[in-house]
Amino acid sequence: MRTLLILCSAACLFAQTSTIRIVSGRRYPRLIVRNALIIEGNGTPASGPKDIVIENGRITDIVALDPVALSRGTARRPAGDIAIDAKGKYVMPGLINAHAHIQDERGGIPQPVDYELKIWMACGITTVRDVGSDTQKTLQLRKQSAEDEIVAPRIFVYPMFNRNPVPRNAEEGRARVREFKAMGVDGIKILGIYRDVMEAMEDEAHKNGLRVAHHAGVEETNAWDDIKFGTTSIEHWYGIPDAAIESGRQNFPATYNYNDETDRFRYAGHLWREANHDLLMKVFDGMVEAHVAWDPTLDIYEASRDLTRAQNQPWFRDYLHPTLAKYFEPNPANHGSYFIGWTSTDEAFWKENYRIEMAALRDFEKRGGLIGAGDDAGFIYQMYGFGLIRELELHQEAGFQPLIVLEHATVNNAKILGQEGRLGRVRTGYLADLLVVDGNPLENLKVLYPTGVDDIRDGKMIHSGGVEWTIKDGIPYYAPGLMADVKEIVAKARAASK
Ligand SMILES: [Zn+2]
Repeated sequence: MRTLLILCSAACLFAQTSTIRIVSGRRYPRLIVRNALIIEGNGTPASGPKDIVIENGRITDIVALDPVALSRGTARRPAGDIAIDAKGKYVMPGLINAHAHIQDERGGIPQPVDYELKIWMACGITTVRDVGSDTQKTLQLRKQSAEDEIVAPRIFVYPMFNRNPVPRNAEEGRARVREFKAMGVDGIKILGIYRDVMEAMEDEAHKNGLRVAHHAGVEETNAWDDIKFGTTSIEHWYGIPDAAIESGRQNFPATYNYNDETDRFRYAGHLWREANHDLLMKVFDGMVEAHVAWDPTLDIYEASRDLTRAQNQPWFRDYLHPTLAKYFEPNPANHGSYFIGWTSTDEAFWKENYRIEMAALRDFEKRGGLIGAGDDAGFIYQMYGFGLIRELELHQEAGFQPLIVLEHATVNNAKILGQEGRLGRVRTGYLADLLVVDGNPLENLKVLYPTGVDDIRDGKMIHSGGVEWTIKDGIPYYAPGLMADVKEIVAKARAASK
């Protein structure tokens, strides 16, 4: 088994489909995905079998197969250099992760960037919106990914606005936007910003065609400012209920210190219950009218409602890098590692917090709001890739049916990126970013986890699931092979750290 994995982890990875072997990571002039049952990504029901033709990184044709002709062997099938047989599998758009951080270190300890990029791809993530990392390095990765030099999702770069030196006033805010524009970024991420600076920087961003993602914390601004100034997406959620508190301020204990992360996360668990429902609906209507989307990152708070679950996820065994493991340990020096003295009372508050937020998400969408999906992994026990799939499960728990959940992570995220004309759908003319999944994600979103699922078929227990092929930019990558590489990276790092 071990030898096999090492063999398979080499760059020249083979997988048997029909009679010709497909090489993982190679571009073919004309690749056909045959017999696909397609989930388009726009919320419409699955449909197939169909043959998908991929040329030059684009979907150039989708041919519906006539079942009668198929059974007689007279069906007209498109020809190609090579084919992936997706019979019995589901084909869907590559997932877009709207809240990602490209990380090559955790807590100052190096972590190979390959580790993260490969897990993302193996989890079916073909696009990420990076909302804060080392900007120059990430711009370089964006280029390498665009040129298919590395195994990586497409990258959209939204650097942190409040880097050193932090813009202190409107003029400095505008200057920072122009500086980012000159660097060639795709958008800007804001966090902990004063209202006058936010107004000026958003105005300048709009003039320069840059989108704005707002980590809307409990700060001077709240969702009303996002509505007024034209934020593209609210990240997380705090600024939303905060805008719907009747008295205008959450009822903090007198000793509360926002800089103390235990305080901050503990009382964040009290925030949703303080929002007034009628005011909240007004906030939602304002967001809908101003086209402010909401990317709730539900997964990243899960440790707050169930610490034991978060600390014992099964994929940690083979795939948790020791650098990340170290970073997750409770330590006041690391962002999000605040679980010292976390109590059952805190968890009970957070469970209620989730219930209110999930109902709010349903209200928001019902009123016309745009919901995206992102995982914010690399913090608080959330691993890259796995975190986004967990996010999808939580959207289902919130009450959205799987077709809508997948729409959140494909079509809706493409809209947030302003890429809805080319990304996020299995549709002719769109970029060929798609997944061949071993199982039906509409029945069970867990089939997307690379670790798969246990099932009973014909009275026998089997292990199945996982993305089989992640096709990005028309290039097929064999996902289990990528995870074998990840396993090796982790095993080596663990051996070296002993
Ligand atoms: Zn984040």
